[in-house]
Amino acid sequence: MSTLVERDANLVWHPFTQVELSDPPLPVVSARGSTLVLEDGTELIDGISSWWCNTHGHGHPELCRAASQQMQKLDHVIFAGFTHEPAVALAEELLRVLPHRYDKVFFTDNGSSAVEVALKMAVQFRHNRGERRTKIIALDDSYHGDTFGAMAAGARGLFSAPFEELLFQVERLSTEGSQNDLDRCHALCAAGDVAAFIFEPLVQGAGGMKVYPAKVLDGYMEVCKAHGVLCIADEVMTGFGRTGPLFSSSALRYAPDLICLSKGLTGGTLPLAVTACRDEIFDAFRSKDHTRTFFHGHTYTANPIACAVAQASLGLTTSEACAERRAAIERQHAEFVLRLNALESVRNPRVAGTILAFDVRDGGTAGYTSDVARQAARFFTKRGVLMRPLGNVVYCMPPYCVLDRELVLVYGALEEFCWALR
Ligand code: PMP
Repeated sequence: MSTLVERDANLVWHPFTQVELSDPPLPVVSARGSTLVLEDGTELIDGISSWWCNTHGHGHPELCRAASQQMQKLDHVIFAGFTHEPAVALAEELLRVLPHRYDKVFFTDNGSSAVEVALKMAVQFRHNRGERRTKIIALDDSYHGDTFGAMAAGARGLFSAPFEELLFQVERLSTEGSQNDLDRCHALCAAGDVAAFIFEPLVQGAGGMKVYPAKVLDGYMEVCKAHGVLCIADEVMTGFGRTGPLFSSSALRYAPDLICLSKGLTGGTLPLAVTACRDEIFDAFRSKDHTRTFFHGHTYTANPIACAVAQASLGLTTSEACAERRAAIERQHAEFVLRLNALESVRNPRVAGTILAFDVRDGGTAGYTSDVARQAARFFTKRGVLMRPLGNVVYCMPPYCVLDRELVLVYGALEEFCWALR
């Protein structure tokens, strides 16, 4: 009888994985809280919240209950021409807690799609008003997903190279926000053909957990607002308390016109995403004329089970207990950074809410294909921690329910790893 890993190797193609260069996948049988349990009984602390999405821990009883109750009542139904309580109740709750004002939510089922929807809404908004504005501005080192539009908006490189010719051109601004950058932003916007400016507020995730100040965005957004360029906050990673406050864009002086959410929306349990906008945008699509319709929709749009779980998760995320827990993690990260600062192999240690990141000096190539990533994965697994560095950027992003003693273990493993690199 073949093992699970052998059966997997015969049939399954894994994301972001070069089989010839990667270790076989680890077989997971269960998970509780911050702990993943492997087939052989090994336990791993989920140091990256299962790709940045798990917020309240695995198998949270309230989320399980919400899923199971909703599954028995209404599992799924087409969302064009139909509606249901979980979707409407979630929309009401979300619009109440989002910073700045939004009036409408559009449901999808993953972060890339939430971004596609935002970009398409921005472009069609202008189209419906009879204006020709299709250009997109994005930040250097940004990442917005793997579908074509999201990939075009993201920084170009290893992931996008084979598709380069098929990607629409995007103008880039740096996260420095110098006078030169601002002048460039002004010149781009003044040309009158820009539809939208998209950014990951405060922390650029896949680009290397790059932390940058809100005032950089304030500067760019002021210019965008003056020229009617729609601003899109991609909070797929930064939303739901990841950087401390409930949403990172609450730190911005100007309101993004569209906001993209996913990952922590369901506490990291089920695929669901949202793009929220204001009525000014929605109203440009409202017409007796079919050609103004937003022709976009996915089969599992607003899945009732995912919406019910998202509502339960939002209740947990907005609780005082959760905010306190996030603050406690941030404090512990900040203390650990002091220890990291003393290590020779560590560069630029940084903390943004529950995210701790640093670069390690890498003898070979820095970047996604850096050997550090593979070495690190093995090293941490042996020490009971799931880590997945982005090239030579090592980061820790635990579920908010992570226990203090689990954090101590994670920090110990990180320190040991840095020592070994010396
Ligand atoms: N935007 C950001 C900022 C992300 O970090 C990600 C995923 N890491 C995405 C979009 C894409 O989300 P998904 O993987 O759910 O398509």
